[in-house]
Amino acid sequence: MGEPVEIGRFAFRFQCQPGCTECCKQPGEVWITPEDVSRIAAWLGMEPEGFQRQFCVEDEEGLRLAIPSSDSCVFLEPNGCSIHPVKPLQCRAFPFWPENVGSRHAWRALRRFCPGVGEGEILPVEQIRPVAQECADAFPDHLN
Ligand code: SF4
Ligand code: SF4
Repeated sequence: MGEPVEIGRFAFRFQCQPGCTECCKQPGEVWITPEDVSRIAAWLGMEPEGFQRQFCVEDEEGLRLAIPSSDSCVFLEPNGCSIHPVKPLQCRAFPFWPENVGSRHAWRALRRFCPGVGEGEILPVEQIRPVAQECADAFPDHLN
């Protein structure tokens, strides 16, 4: 495990809103791990190499999904993520990325596009920390 993630001392409320796909339409990268590649490829009935060739880009910055010209994720369909059961760690972990949970200000800034932030029950830090830590460990150069 890398550096422990800093979790701000405030109440985290979050409940993903049915029908919303706003986070999948935000500009930015979907970084993926080799485990993501294997899992998604298997689910799609592809070889990992074939999946990577068709759907990913890799350079010195890392491995990520290729972004189509529309800016939305290639797996986003009108009714949601077409690979939802096996979606990448980065997507499963949202909004609990290290860069989002360190301060109240960063957390609140998510309201700009995520209507789930500030909704629902207060979530225990014990639920948030492992998710943020998994991201930090998987992507030490991103999402921090
Ligand atoms: S933007 Fe927020 S509420 Fe909408 S799908 Fe993403 S996590 Fe859920
Ligand atoms: S993989 Fe799925 S959850 Fe992740 S950004 Fe693309 S459509 Fe959204």
